[in-house]
Amino acid sequence: MPSWLLITNATIVDGAGNPPVSGASVLVKDELISDVGPHVGRSLVPRGEELTEIDATGKTLMPGLIDAHCHMTYGESRSEEEIDLYTSPELRTLKAAFNAQKVLRAGVTGISQPGGSYYIGVGLREAIKDGIVQGPRMTAAGRYITTSNGLTDWFPDSVGVPEGSIGVLHNNVDGMINEVRHQVKNGVDLIKLADSPFGQYQSFTDDEMKIVADLAHQLGKKVTIHARGSAEVDAAVRAGIDWIMHGNIMDDGTIGRLAESGTPLVPTLLLLSNAGDFGHLVGAPEPLREGMKRMLDRTGDAMTRARQAGVKFALGTDSGFSLTPYGVWHARELELLMDYAGLTSVEAIQAGTSNGALMLGLDGKVGVVAPGMIADLIIVNGDPVKDIRVLQRRECIETVIQGGAVVVFDEEKVARSWPHERGIGYSVGDLTYDVVYGGLDPADPVSAAESDGVQVHDLRTSEEANDLVSALSHRETGARHID
Ligand SMILES: [Zn+2]
Repeated sequence: MPSWLLITNATIVDGAGNPPVSGASVLVKDELISDVGPHVGRSLVPRGEELTEIDATGKTLMPGLIDAHCHMTYGESRSEEEIDLYTSPELRTLKAAFNAQKVLRAGVTGISQPGGSYYIGVGLREAIKDGIVQGPRMTAAGRYITTSNGLTDWFPDSVGVPEGSIGVLHNNVDGMINEVRHQVKNGVDLIKLADSPFGQYQSFTDDEMKIVADLAHQLGKKVTIHARGSAEVDAAVRAGIDWIMHGNIMDDGTIGRLAESGTPLVPTLLLLSNAGDFGHLVGAPEPLREGMKRMLDRTGDAMTRARQAGVKFALGTDSGFSLTPYGVWHARELELLMDYAGLTSVEAIQAGTSNGALMLGLDGKVGVVAPGMIADLIIVNGDPVKDIRVLQRRECIETVIQGGAVVVFDEEKVARSWPHERGIGYSVGDLTYDVVYGGLDPADPVSAAESDGVQVHDLRTSEEANDLVSALSHRETGARHID
């Protein structure tokens, strides 16, 4: 017997970019939306069939968010070493499963993982699909394919790219082809290429990109790329890569070709912005914060021009770092798309919903409130068109509907975070002779650290000033319980 869900009298923001419609109702039959509009009501449900009814008067009904850049295997890491070296695959998998429910609780009903360690993403995707694990609908890449000049080959050659790494190193086409074949055999939905870390140069050759993209497509899979600079964005468009991550530094020519190709861009502003705006609250090093801020400013310039040229944006957050914990900041990306790319709130919601369907392998099937679409929906207590930030407040995400079913959460669990796995750090500055004897107050490690170029002002209240370590760990504990 079919089961029905009726949501009445909502303001609908459809995710397709249309203006909001108030006083409308939505009827869901099993997994799919069956009807939408002011005429929809109980009378459309056959007598005797199971019906759940939700009165959404004064509330907004919209598609669940789709985060096309969410790394479930990172485990809220504080360092690249933590991502690549520490934490066994077994524990990493279990943590990813735990964290998936937090992402869903935030109203994110779909994610794509563009790279992660082992095949954890593939396993997690299947476990979510089978109902073993509570989490968003998901697609996953395997390890990023990189070269010696790309992102994820962090360590010296004497160490190499370890097995647990999120990347896998191939400096020639044969290796790349071999890798694509293995990854596809092991169940990935997409291939992730890792070009230069900061857009300094194009690290893959045109041929390498094209061969990988063509083979992935031939095998029925998608391809995306970490591409921050004009050269690699251009090459990615030429190679037919399905969507592009970042695009921070693009000249007008590149932007024009990107717009013309229709290839969506997932700018992923959140990590840059969180580091620049809030990193000081959790001890992010100043050079990193400043670097991210500068990158964000340049990105804002590129995004504004990209928007004017008609580039299609999708929501991505790089969630999974300690600066972008799961289930907390996903919707902030929408605010950033408005601030930095000039999108309207309706356009930002479209970027965060229907524009992400492609990355879920469900283009045209999810992300819009319309008949025939998969019923991944959220009911929001507030008006995100007027104030997009309501989507960042967990208490405003009143109801999460996944595949036509209202999701029940363990609220205590979704508020929980893990302590970080390993951090072998000894100090935030160097204990030089001058720090000890150069006229600085040795009882005030804060001033000592500042003299060494480390800004720790914001890490403390004045009472905590004489114990930097306790101030830091206090902040860390606080940061783990954001709610
Ligand atoms: Zn990423």
